Amino acid sequence: MRTGPRVLDAQQIALRTNVSAWKPRMTDRITPERRSWNMSRIKGRDTGPEKCVRSLLHGLGLRFTLRNTRLPGKPDIVLPRWRTVIFVHGCFWHRHENCHNNVMPKTRPEFWEKKLGENVARDQRSVAAMRQLGWRVHVIWECEVADEAKLRRSLQRVFKVAP
Ligand SMILES: [Zn+2]
Repeated sequence: MRTGPRVLDAQQIALRTNVSAWKPRMTDRITPERRSWNMSRIKGRDTGPEKCVRSLLHGLGLRFTLRNTRLPGKPDIVLPRWRTVIFVHGCFWHRHENCHNNVMPKTRPEFWEKKLGENVARDQRSVAAMRQLGWRVHVIWECEVADEAKLRRSLQRVFKVAP
């Protein structure tokens, strides 16, 4: 039986998500091995930032389903009741504007320019397609997840949940 939304304090969330071990930082000096490890994490479901967002949503009593591969852009989190999808974007891979994590690697710049540019173009198409289908689209950047309190307030505003 539920007795209203569960509220987790920062420590509980940190324990659940191991968020303290996760640092939103990506530099150009990482090794290729490290880069491919990062890539596998980004492509996987359980990336740190996404876990953290899920935990916050859960704490706010918002029900969601995970990545829906049938919807345009495969949104990371789907909230059917709010007809809202959330994309949790890595700042490097999706070129977060004016973000310190959005760096262009010095090696093979043309490759990265093209690859990351394609990601951004795909993101724009996905958002447009989701809106066309009548969904609200919310993008959360990995750097925003570092400030949990602020992110929680922002989610409260988006979903009109009383603090
Ligand atoms: Zn960012």
